[in-house]
This record gives sequence, structure tokens and C-alpha cells, in this order.
Amino acid sequence: MTNPFAINVCKTFGCRNLGLASSADYSWPDYKLGYPALHCQACGSYPPLFDEQQFRDWLSVHLTAYAAEKGHFCPSCYCKETIFYGHNPQGTQRIQCRSCKKVWTPKQQPAREITHPRSIETVPLLLPFQGASAGQKLYVLVSLDAARGNILHLSTNYTQHQTGDSLRYCYRGNTEPTVQHSDIVQRVDMREAQFLRRSQFDEIQYGSAVLKRNGKGAILRPVITAHGHFRILKIRFPDIKTHIISHECFLRGAIITAWADQFRQQQGEIWFIEEEISDSNADTPWHFQGTTYHGWWKNQWQRWEQGKNRKMVCALTGGNNSKAKMLSLATSRHFIHWLHQQTKFTHSAPLSAGRVTQILLSLTQDYNNCASLLISD
Ligand SMILES: [Zn+2]
Ligand SMILES: [Zn+2]
Repeated sequence: MTNPFAINVCKTFGCRNLGLASSADYSWPDYKLGYPALHCQACGSYPPLFDEQQFRDWLSVHLTAYAAEKGHFCPSCYCKETIFYGHNPQGTQRIQCRSCKKVWTPKQQPAREITHPRSIETVPLLLPFQGASAGQKLYVLVSLDAARGNILHLSTNYTQHQTGDSLRYCYRGNTEPTVQHSDIVQRVDMREAQFLRRSQFDEIQYGSAVLKRNGKGAILRPVITAHGHFRILKIRFPDIKTHIISHECFLRGAIITAWADQFRQQQGEIWFIEEEISDSNADTPWHFQGTTYHGWWKNQWQRWEQGKNRKMVCALTGGNNSKAKMLSLATSRHFIHWLHQQTKFTHSAPLSAGRVTQILLSLTQDYNNCASLLISD
């Protein structure tokens, strides 16, 4: 298994150092771009540096707490190979790690292991909570099985764990505006320009998120939440090859770092999708409209039309371009639509960040229990 804590690594697809924690090609800190960065001489990239110790301290507690609760992998060594190991006197299932032999009782009784997804779709949401004042915002990531529609993992950037200062979100009053333009090609271009205007590519300013005075826990930088989110998915689903994501550059970075082994062997695909869906029931074929190039990296995007529906699709790591026709963010759209119909959710804005997070996690279970409406097998 790759080191789940490596974060100061090259994140360039095609570079021999992709995901490697150390390399003779690295030098740091490098301030050429105005922030402390790692310089990878092999590909010329400057990924922003993280405080590795603080990231490790937070992530290890985060992984352990998740595993202790869910039982999907070992809370000590993160090994996924476990066996049922008898029951407690109360009748709850105990689990033993095959690797380090640790025995524990997950708080949630382990369900039948779900069918492994072939592709994961991930989108961010901004949801309100009551903090120091009303209308504070949580940054939420939800990942679904793109084919079956069930939720695989949901994270918010609220954490109840001890957190170093460098991992905390700091709002400076300059919220990135939602990109608005009637033309989808222009929107993709403006979004790329937005990434460049950030103090560094992974430093999103999405709005105010101040906890109640003396509130327990912390609000993390969304990029940290993304790294934690995808590392849990990586431990659970190490062989995933296809990732479909909203147009957000640090989601790309977190995915390519978590599954770096596959990407180094050219075994993975990451697709950006931008959609404009006015008729979600349309079932006529999509028609290819041409390609355009956008952003710092001059990524190639394909434009597709289906009646009044539009989408733009970008293969970030090569991948079979003929697949673009089939790709969408439909499973997350379905979930978000469902979420807004749940009273537990629509009444959650006056609650604390921790409480909103709990409600979202419990709604995730409700959704998966009723998702048979989508799950075909
Ligand atoms: Zn590199
Ligand atoms: Zn173990």
C-alpha cells in the first residue's frame, strides 16, 4: 500500500515523480510563484507545500475514527483485509485485522460489503450552518458510484479532531463569485481564470465559516478535506480507475495523489465535467460539437449537445476520448435533488456545523437504503 500520508509530492500526470514522497528532483521551499512550493525539476511544476506533520497528525486521527466507526478497514494499520471475529456479550459483531491482528467493534454494525464501484463521481456542495452568526458555510464533498448511484463517502470540512493551524480554513472576505455566463465554453474558461486568481491553486475562498464561540472542532481548508476524503476512498477502493469530477483543480490534485500508483502506470482516468441540463429526462443521443483548449495547462475540452442540454468534458489524464459521450454528473444531480426534498436537511441551517455534518451522514444512509430505485443489481 502507498503511504497514505504523503502530500508534498509531484502531482503532474506523466511525471516520473507523480505521488512520490521523495525524489532527487525535488527542492523546497521554493517561492517563485509567491507561496511556499515544492519544485519538481523533472516536470517543472510547483505544487504548494503543506505542513506535513500537521497533515499527518490530523489524517491519522481522521482515518482511525472513521475505521473505528464503520469497520471498513483497520483503525491501526488501515489494512482492508479483516475477518469477523465473534461477538461481544451484547451481540455486536467484532472484527479482526488480518495484518496486525487488532480486534475492534465498529460502532456501526458492518453491512454486507457493497459491490465495488468501477467509477466514482465526486461533486462539492456549499451548505449553510449556524456558527458565530447565521449563514456560515460548510464545504461538502460527496462521492457516488457513478453507475449504481449509491453514495460511497461524504465529507464536510468540519472536523472534531485536533487540527494544526495550517490546515484550518481562513476566510479573508473575498468569496470567489459563482461563474455566470450564458455560454458554457466561456464558463469553463472563466473558471480556469478563477483558479489562476487564487493565492495558490488549492486555496479556495468559498465564504465565511466561523464556528460558534467556544465551539468544539475546526473548519478545515477544503483542499485538506479533499485529501482526507479521497484517501479514505483509496483505502476502501484501491483499484478504481475512473474518476468523474466537477471542474475544481484541487479535487484533481487530491485524486491523483491518492491513487498515484495507478496514475504513474497510466492506469487511471480523471474527467472534469461542466453541465447545463435543462431536460434531465432527455434520452436522445449526445452530439459532439468540437474541442476547445482552456486554462494554464491548455487542457482539451469536448463540447457536447443533446437538444437543449450542454456539457463540456475534459480528460485530465489521457483516457479514451470516445467515453466522453457517456459521462455526466447525473448520479450526484439525482442525490442533490433528493436531498433538497428532505425536511431533516431543509431544517438544518440553524444547526451547528457538527450537527449539520451528522445529519448529512445519516441522510447518506437513508439515501443508500432507498437508492434501490437507482441501483440496478
Ligand atoms: Zn514532476
Ligand atoms: Zn491492522
